[in-house]
Amino acid sequence: MKAICVAEFGGPDVMQIKDRPDLSAGEGQILISVKAVGVNPVDTYIREGWYPIKKPPGYTPGFDAAGLVEQVGRGVESFRPGDRVFVCGSLTGTYAEQTLCLPKQVFALPDKVSFSQGAALGTPYGTACQALFGRADAQAGQTVLVHGASGGVGIAAVQLAAAGGLTVFATAGTDKGRQLVTERGARHALDHHDAGHFEAVKELTDGRGVDIVLEMLANVNLDRDLDILASGGSVVVIGSRGRIEIDPRKTMARDLNILGMSLMNASTEQRAAIYARIQAGLEAGQLSPVIGQELPLEKAPEAHRLVMESAHYGKIVLIP
Ligand code: NAP
Repeated sequence: MKAICVAEFGGPDVMQIKDRPDLSAGEGQILISVKAVGVNPVDTYIREGWYPIKKPPGYTPGFDAAGLVEQVGRGVESFRPGDRVFVCGSLTGTYAEQTLCLPKQVFALPDKVSFSQGAALGTPYGTACQALFGRADAQAGQTVLVHGASGGVGIAAVQLAAAGGLTVFATAGTDKGRQLVTERGARHALDHHDAGHFEAVKELTDGRGVDIVLEMLANVNLDRDLDILASGGSVVVIGSRGRIEIDPRKTMARDLNILGMSLMNASTEQRAAIYARIQAGLEAGQLSPVIGQELPLEKAPEAHRLVMESAHYGKIVLIP
């Protein structure tokens, strides 16, 4: 089988496609024939070598994929060969024609959801769901700003929040991105490159501010986010790529909460609940991942460059 291998930490071109021996499912494992792979920013951080998760030389990247169950190992009762599935996490990496998973990493993919869309679910939808409902305790009737809504996590957050009965404000860096987030459930779309967008959120909420901010780039926005939260509101730090100075007094004035989160901290039980909610939303037609680009597996280096550029439009997917 073909797999992307990372010989050493470094830039995108350290990834090369190689022939590897076919995999088989050991006890308690599920072998998946991969039809689409989700490319996440974290895959680039690990490849560069600075992320806390360290992989051995020659590793195959990737947490997310969708495909068909090819084989189940002894003791696996939850899936059968031929089942359509999506995965969040893998024993062997997902940038490959085959991947080995544990049952807790595998979830049924509804028939109406394509494999490419399935590859967009694991990390982005899981993260958005945990940030909104697990960390910020979002409730119907509240307001949320999805700060950076045009990419993988942002689109998921817009859809999950709208399905949960929240009023959604969203930002994107391009006209195309703003149109996309409006089509997917945001009541208002703003430009995060326009310094006036914070004031615009205040005006759109009659000066009250929003109950929740889901923040994709905290090192740029966190201090100003505190200006646009309603009393008792919460900002959830989902993404951050550097340091920032904030004024802590802003949190005192209105009892504000700054909440960090990582999907990797979610327990097996929490993950089961998260993906059950996502499966229900897919079945109900409330959730529908947006695929911006499909590239062949050997174009993994290009996919890694694209995912770190601006002007996002949904998810980048690799096809083995
Ligand atoms: P992505 O698909 O690459 O999207 C990045 C998003 O950030 C785009 O919507 C982009 O908008 C937006 N952005 C760019 N400049 C911004 C600004 N000044 N203010 C606000 N947003 C801005 O990435 P993703 O998969 O959605 O992930 C988003 C972030 O969350 C990444 O940093 C990722 O590492 C992190 N993440 C964290 C977890 C966790 O467990 N905590 C899980 C998954 C992802 P434009 O391109 O339209 O400008």
